[in-house]
Amino acid sequence: MPKLTEKEYDFVIVGSGLGGLVCGYILASEGYSVAILEKNHQIGGHLQVYSRDKTIFDTGVHYVGSLNEGENLHQFFKYFQILDKLKLKKMDEDKFDVIRFDDGSEYEYAQGYEAFQKKLIEYFPEEENAIHTYCNKIKEVCSKFPLYNLRVSGESYQMDGDLLNLNAHAYIASLTSNVRLQNVLAGSNLLYAGVREMTPFYLHALIMNSYLSGSYKFIDGGSQIAILMSRGIRTLGGEIYKHKKVTGADYDDTGRITNVILENGEKVKGKTFISNVHPAVTIDIFGEEHFLNVYKNRIKGLENTISTFLVHLSFHENTFEYLNHNIYQHHIDDVWGGIDYDEETWPQTYFVCTPYISRNSKYAESMSIMTYMKTSETEKWAHTFRTVSEPGERETEYHRFKKEKEAKVLKKIEEVFPGITSKIKSVHSATPLTFRDYIGNRDGALYGILKNSNSPSRTQINTKTRVPNLHLTGQNISMHGILGVTVSAFVTCFAFVDKNKLIQKVINA
Ligand SMILES: Cc1cc2nc3c(=O)[nH]c(=O)nc-3n(C[C@H](O)[C@H](O)[C@H](O)COP(=O)(O)OP(=O)(O)OC[C@H]3O[C@@H](n4cnc5c(N)ncnc54)[C@H](O)[C@@H]3O)c2cc1C
Repeated sequence: MPKLTEKEYDFVIVGSGLGGLVCGYILASEGYSVAILEKNHQIGGHLQVYSRDKTIFDTGVHYVGSLNEGENLHQFFKYFQILDKLKLKKMDEDKFDVIRFDDGSEYEYAQGYEAFQKKLIEYFPEEENAIHTYCNKIKEVCSKFPLYNLRVSGESYQMDGDLLNLNAHAYIASLTSNVRLQNVLAGSNLLYAGVREMTPFYLHALIMNSYLSGSYKFIDGGSQIAILMSRGIRTLGGEIYKHKKVTGADYDDTGRITNVILENGEKVKGKTFISNVHPAVTIDIFGEEHFLNVYKNRIKGLENTISTFLVHLSFHENTFEYLNHNIYQHHIDDVWGGIDYDEETWPQTYFVCTPYISRNSKYAESMSIMTYMKTSETEKWAHTFRTVSEPGERETEYHRFKKEKEAKVLKKIEEVFPGITSKIKSVHSATPLTFRDYIGNRDGALYGILKNSNSPSRTQINTKTRVPNLHLTGQNISMHGILGVTVSAFVTCFAFVDKNKLIQKVINA
């Protein structure tokens, strides 16, 4: 086989996050030659896992929705030929998520609209109308996103202005004066790092609908999606390379990219290039001078979602029972308030889950606790860099900072699970810097660019750029999450493949 640097590929994809892998799969299966270049030692971006104390920890995927038979992700995974190979654990039908408040009260989300509504009506019998209206609105909003329903219509995959302008908090508050119900309905807003004044309702709706349509965990870790996708791509003739950091590009006289330049100076030639990296970083890599000022300023001026402090606990053997549901814990009544924390009261809001490990179905080996963290908290160490590929050092003070934050999280989690501390074998954590370094964005943003219901069009990023053979994909483009990124990657590929035929292949898969 010719070497990577000797060939000219139809497509060179920068980054092997899910978006890069999905584009790679689609294009390779359409007969194109594809090379995916990944800077890290592990492919998958947020799908990467790491292991400590013989336990696997997920970094950026805890559960997925829309996996019931006939649902969209189920069908996409069938098209990728990975559905029957993925090891999936269906979460509890009667409670896949629990919204828990500081007073100890718990509200369970059940799977399926009927069961979900029934439970909520049991908690809030006076609010039957509001609950029905809320669910109907979610369905109505989701029906307006054609690709989520495996339909292709027109050019735009993000619908009308009124819908994009609808604010999640404002809409939910308009349904009922019952403040607790408002907070229960928005209780899993960590899934999109919800900001009261900004988060659009469509984001809430697409994500809620997805989890109500079949919530599953990945048995033994989410990296299996990346592993299975990469096998599929290779079987189709595609090539995936690790330790290949793209740092620049060369252009011809007509303004087309001829090749990307790797950190070690090697060049990889291609006809078309797809960047799976944050668009602001893409502009830096491909050269600011090739983009219009107005575009550059808009992209670089966009706010990203907040980052995270992710705590991983490993347990002494057979001490903590596995939970087949997640918990969204709020130590304040207002679920929109936890993101705007101060140091004294942090963490007020966090997500708790126990990964499912096949060798022990009764007890959990570990727990993930995801809290919010502003980038400013780790700003002091922003000049340092550390990944497995580039193992730089960070100061003792940084490690002390992490330990202090871990201790604060453990103190809170002890309130939720009294006695848990004695069951913990070890504690590990990841900061905004960890995410920044492994993902290659600027600030370790949880879910990429922050969507804003006040100016929705500003945060809608076209997959095509002014450079004629440079396209974009990934969580920053239209939606984050396994489903959102998959859909975004299809939109990217519609520039090269007949969209009707492609979606028909998905439907027929
Ligand atoms: C803590 C956390 C929990 C989450 N939980 C869930 C969940 O439970 N369910 C869910 O559906 N979603 C979840 N998400 C979101 C989901 O993981 C992401 O939206 C999705 O995986 C992003 O995919 P992407 O295609 O944008 O690529 P990314 O994952 O952002 O990957 C980009 C890739 O590009 C590579 N790269 C960057 N720069 C370069 C370069 N110069 N050269 C070469 N390669 C480069 C990076 O190394 C990386 O591999 C979570 C995210 C986080 C952070």
